[in-house]
Amino acid sequence: MQSTVVPTTYSRTNPFQAQVLKNENLNGAGSSKETRHLELSLKGSDLSYVPGDCLGIIPENDPELVASLLEEMKWDAELPVSVSKQGDTLPLKEALATHFEITLLTKKIIQQAAGLSDNEELQKLVSDENINQLKEYADGRDLLDLLRDFGPWKASALEIVSLLRKMPPRLYSIASSIAANPEEVHLTIGAVRYTANGRERKGVCSVQCAERLQEGDTLPVFIQQNKHFNLPESQDKDIIMVGPGTGIAPFRSFIQERAVNKAPGRSWLFFGDQHSASDFLYQNELEKYQKDGVLTRLEVAFSRDSAQKVYVQHKMLENSKELFEWLENGAYFYVCGDKQYMAKDVHNTLIDVIEKEGSMTREAAEAYLNGMQEQGRYQRDVY
Ligand SMILES: Cc1cc2nc3c(=O)[nH]c(=O)nc-3n(C[C@H](O)[C@H](O)[C@H](O)COP(=O)(O)OP(=O)(O)OC[C@H]3O[C@@H](n4cnc5c(N)ncnc54)[C@H](O)[C@@H]3O)c2cc1C
Repeated sequence: MQSTVVPTTYSRTNPFQAQVLKNENLNGAGSSKETRHLELSLKGSDLSYVPGDCLGIIPENDPELVASLLEEMKWDAELPVSVSKQGDTLPLKEALATHFEITLLTKKIIQQAAGLSDNEELQKLVSDENINQLKEYADGRDLLDLLRDFGPWKASALEIVSLLRKMPPRLYSIASSIAANPEEVHLTIGAVRYTANGRERKGVCSVQCAERLQEGDTLPVFIQQNKHFNLPESQDKDIIMVGPGTGIAPFRSFIQERAVNKAPGRSWLFFGDQHSASDFLYQNELEKYQKDGVLTRLEVAFSRDSAQKVYVQHKMLENSKELFEWLENGAYFYVCGDKQYMAKDVHNTLIDVIEKEGSMTREAAEAYLNGMQEQGRYQRDVY
């Protein structure tokens, strides 16, 4: 009898161990940023994706932070800790590194921790009338802060670990086209580093990629489809892409895909960052695409190269007439990157452009943009 091999389906709950083919810093000397370009192999996974999709990574915590926790609490690194409902265990050190979230505090964790300590300050913090102080405390602090601030603890390692949540995966916009890079997936990851409450903090996944992930290592990944951020079905359609900083990622994928398909539709990219000399991500590639006509137009805004800060939305305004012409001609408009400021500024500027160039009232311009959104011609991937 012939046996049939059932292919493994990799997913969020069963991630694929992707090998790192390349991991380099895209920023030049003197930059205040670190943006990693990561190339991973999907060989043997049967995984595929389309431009606009995301890759999920299951990251690991910083071993130095894990060591600090073990040391602070004098915990036994080898203590077996349950990490599944089926009763699988890992040594505490490994469980803290790979399984649990230790860099974020929730209200619930602090409230439950209060049951494991007699510390009066902590009891005060979790009382009903101090809910705002509790939120403020949790913001920008982690498990190590909590354990240091509110001892002595009358709880075992297992009791404290039982308060922790499972490490959530991080999502990244895919920065490659699989048609241009068979069996590969590329990412553009900005390293998150900041100081809060007297300690230097490092983003779990981005700093793992920046500081510890070597070529040849593997990373557990899965594909997260994004049905709301895709190239137009028709290759004839024009596309306008606004992607400053790491927002460039999906547009590298779009451009690569359109190059492979020799799509006749025009494409226009707005990119921005701090300094042209050190932060122009993928500069050579983009300029080559422009030379070859794959990228019809490339507008760049470097905010710290001049006395007056210039952002992508200023470049949109400078080109408002042509921008509106493209929209009138049926162009799709895409935005990717910072949700807090950039996406709002770009949204408002787009309405300004439509209002001015279409000689419309504000309300009519907003309705025009809503119409584009309903037709799937205004798509955003912001975080
Ligand atoms: C759909 C989607 C696509 C994405 N695509 C990309 C991409 O292409 N490239 C990319 O780099 N990222 C992307 N991200 C963001 C990415 O998923 C992670 O959130 C990011 O890399 C940080 O993860 P981390 O594990 O390094 O940091 P974490 O350990 O998760 O820490 C990040 C947290 O630190 C806190 N924080 C950060 N800076 C400060 C500060 N200055 N002060 C105080 N607190 C601060 C915030 O609470 C923040 O949420 C995307 C997110 C989504 C949802």
